[in-house]
Amino acid sequence: MKAAAFKKQNEMAIIDAPKPSAGAGEVVLKVHNCGICGSDLHACQFGFGMPSGSIMGHEFCGEIAEIGAGVRGYEIGQRVCALPFVMCGECDRCKRGMEIHCHNLKGLGLGQLPGAYAEFVACSAKSLFRLPDNVTSRDGALVEPLSVGLHAVKRASIESGDTVLVMGAGPIGLATLTWAKAKGATVVVSELADGRGELARKLGADVVVNPKTTPPVDKIRELTGRSPELIFECIGVKGTLDQAMSMIAPRGQIVVVGVCMEPDQISPIQGIMKETSVDFVLGYDPADFDETINALTSGKIRPQPMVTDIISVDQVPEMFEALRRPGNRAKVMVEFPH
Ligand SMILES: [Zn+2]
Ligand SMILES: [Zn+2]
Repeated sequence: MKAAAFKKQNEMAIIDAPKPSAGAGEVVLKVHNCGICGSDLHACQFGFGMPSGSIMGHEFCGEIAEIGAGVRGYEIGQRVCALPFVMCGECDRCKRGMEIHCHNLKGLGLGQLPGAYAEFVACSAKSLFRLPDNVTSRDGALVEPLSVGLHAVKRASIESGDTVLVMGAGPIGLATLTWAKAKGATVVVSELADGRGELARKLGADVVVNPKTTPPVDKIRELTGRSPELIFECIGVKGTLDQAMSMIAPRGQIVVVGVCMEPDQISPIQGIMKETSVDFVLGYDPADFDETINALTSGKIRPQPMVTDIISVDQVPEMFEALRRPGNRAKVMVEFPH
């Protein structure tokens, strides 16, 4: 089967890989869609010790093509999405609903297990979520990144009518915006790229500011008379956490969702003087997948404008190149014929 794999630092390649078969407790999916994630770009750029030939891709959905021994409750042809990892289900963390911190976690698509930039992918039946007929496969592949936004928003206990600032309108910022709106907040988004700002507007942002020309903190003060009390940092480059710390109101909360890969500086005295809470979040819990699928099913969230490009798997290597430069793209979706 055809797949897109990590070749070496900063380089992806199209490979011909053996089609997986379903082991005990597993299913094989015929992949319909798989989104390109910022983590994929980081992993390709930094390598992270990923073996050459690792099939990447962890935001996927597809139809069940093969069912392994011992798997009950699924049929061939059913559409599902899946958590991009296998958890043990037995350890103390799994038992507390913190599967993403499972002691025995194995991730799909980032070097440990083969991912879904491929015609077929094997996954654990325990990680599957059924997709109702009215949730398209493109939306099914958005369940994973949307769950990241939901997990971030749940960390913040937003109340209807709160005004929040989302820094950055890349896929993570847009997912966070989507859920902050769904929870009833007024959302100000700051974004340098005008095209991405436009996407934020389409996804319901109340105000979009370009921080080059308008300090977001001024805009929030104009709306509420106060400094921002809740900021989602969804950029993840050097300096942005410090910017959030300088904007936040006393006893405000910053939720860090964007992934900065380098050591970064903050000023602890600034945090102390304002008693700032800074919460880092990672991924999602399985319950976040359920909530996302329910919200897609009912139409409570409509994330389609996040997707700016639909490409074939053959275009993955060149798209990884293109995405290394800043621009107006948000979620790029790989689509397989189905
Ligand atoms: Zn991802
Ligand atoms: Zn576990």
